[in-house]
Amino acid sequence: MIASDRMPAFELYQPLGLKEAFGLLDRFGRDGWKLAGGNDSLDWFKARIKRPRAVIDLTAIQGLAGVRETDEGIEIGALTTLAALDRDPLVRGRFRLLADAAAAVASPQIRNTGTIGGNIAQHARCWYYRSGLQCYRAGGDTCFARRAESVNREHAVFDAGRCVAVNPSDVAPALAALDAQMVLQSSKTQRVVGADRFFVGTQVDVTSLNCIGPDEILVSIRLPKAWAGAHFYFEKVADRAVWDFPLVNVAAALSVAGGQIARARIACGAVSAVPRRLPAVEAAIVGRAIGEETAILAGKLATRGAQPLAYNGFKLPLTAGLVTRAVRDARA
Ligand SMILES: Cc1cc2nc3c(=O)[nH]c(=O)nc-3n(C[C@H](O)[C@H](O)[C@H](O)COP(=O)(O)OP(=O)(O)OC[C@H]3O[C@@H](n4cnc5c(N)ncnc54)[C@H](O)[C@@H]3O)c2cc1C
Repeated sequence: MIASDRMPAFELYQPLGLKEAFGLLDRFGRDGWKLAGGNDSLDWFKARIKRPRAVIDLTAIQGLAGVRETDEGIEIGALTTLAALDRDPLVRGRFRLLADAAAAVASPQIRNTGTIGGNIAQHARCWYYRSGLQCYRAGGDTCFARRAESVNREHAVFDAGRCVAVNPSDVAPALAALDAQMVLQSSKTQRVVGADRFFVGTQVDVTSLNCIGPDEILVSIRLPKAWAGAHFYFEKVADRAVWDFPLVNVAAALSVAGGQIARARIACGAVSAVPRRLPAVEAAIVGRAIGEETAILAGKLATRGAQPLAYNGFKLPLTAGLVTRAVRDARA
């Protein structure tokens, strides 16, 4: 039973600049917790499962929020809220896929405070893990969700390793489809990593869904202009229309020339620990005419290699249907 009443005490820091924030991260290491909108973080604290010694609130740091145009495309500050993304003219006008994904998250209240950085760095929503059980993801030596009698309808149908939790973000597959680059900074270095390396599976790290180091802050996300104004499609299926995580979602970016698909990037979310790109589908549809036949082919290929658990087999036809619709209905 989780006691969601009072948070354990921690030291709260509200740095005004990155230099100060890095100093705090270097000082506290794994005992420090970065705070953005708090929608995921406060749940953990109230449940007393994550007990950081210091919480470093990033929201007062100048320059971490907002969208700006660059020579290469656009750069989005990691502290930009999901609501701001949805109504930003650059994002809506050129990368509608991301705006649509942001608009599909949770509820207006959560989108008003939840940030793009926090959304793609949020922890897994496996209920065993979030109940504080000592599973692999929590540093233990078992996966409770994988057991035959377990409730695992929300869990992975692809590439499950020791842990079968999925990445629950609606924004993550849109970033994978848009070939986004994440900018990670520490007191010593800056590195820029693509979505394929930013999101990590259990074979890389069973305790985290991303590669952000304890000393690093995700400062921004870059979208290359190569995909600006492409044909886009985002759809999410959840148990409830609002305030609910995806059972499966799909994000597609297609560039179309003369009625044919010239380039394609498609990713599905909530089916594995990472937003899952579909390279076999992408390769099969490039060079084909956009339309029903190509869409059906895409849907058929979308679930190859799937390994459902006891209660999540429904995700296979769902994924196939969403990918079919994404290829058929993507629009500029
Ligand atoms: C009831 C409910 C329903 C939800 N439904 C959905 C949904 O349908 N779809 C969906 O995609 N999401 C959903 N969410 C998650 C929500 O979208 C939040 O945006 C997200 O969990 C966290 O964003 P935040 O800014 O509040 O981050 P926080 O809670 O502040 O942080 C989340 C994590 O990210 C880390 N972090 C945050 N910012 C940075 C940074 N700049 N650099 C490094 N690390 C950072 C924090 O340390 C923490 O580990 C839901 C959440 C709730 C509570």
